[in-house]
Amino acid sequence: MRRGCISLGEVKCNICQRTIPYPERYLAVDEEDGAEVEKGNTVHYCIQCALEKGYAHYKEVKGDMILTFFPESEISEETNISQEKGTSQETNTNQK
Ligand SMILES: [Zn+2]
Repeated sequence: MRRGCISLGEVKCNICQRTIPYPERYLAVDEEDGAEVEKGNTVHYCIQCALEKGYAHYKEVKGDMILTFFPESEISEETNISQEKGTSQETNTNQK
């Protein structure tokens, strides 16, 4: 499981051993034997190491580069689903 977090200045990247300064973002991943699992040892990645491992991506949204810790497909799917649900529910209410 992945969690995107903001460092308070006391978090160390487990990969490059760099201390992640506040307010830099980092990623906490549950891993076992180097593979991502639902519940395991928590490994901290700085942004650079997360990018190299493929856990983080830069995505361009309206001209801004946004850092995301999830695969692009997951993000767009989730966004689409919630938007569709919201729209259809509103439409139904209005028709009745
Ligand atoms: Zn690192």
